[in-house]
Amino acid sequence: MKKGFTLVEMIVIVCIIAVLSLLSAPSIIETIRSGNKQVCLDNQKAILSEYYAKSPYTDNKETLFKQIINEYGEICPNGTIIDITAPGHLNCPLHGSASN
Ligand SMILES: [Zn+2]
Repeated sequence: MKKGFTLVEMIVIVCIIAVLSLLSAPSIIETIRSGNKQVCLDNQKAILSEYYAKSPYTDNKETLFKQIINEYGEICPNGTIIDITAPGHLNCPLHGSASN
């Protein structure tokens, strides 16, 4: 009685797994990209809501905005440098702006 798999059967199984991996790779990459974009926009929204909550109580809005951004740490999960045009306006060159 035969036990285990032959070499040809193992090669066929490995080829099937490789083809399935190649077919699913684009959707996995797209899911990661869309997740990173959502995290980036959500971080921007969190910073903006904290800024708009605190800004009526200070005269130096620019310092407050920079302080909130520094406390927040990395905004974009891709490590993109966020453009800060004015207090209350953030823009990620890769993912866009949540303030629009
Ligand atoms: Zn981003």
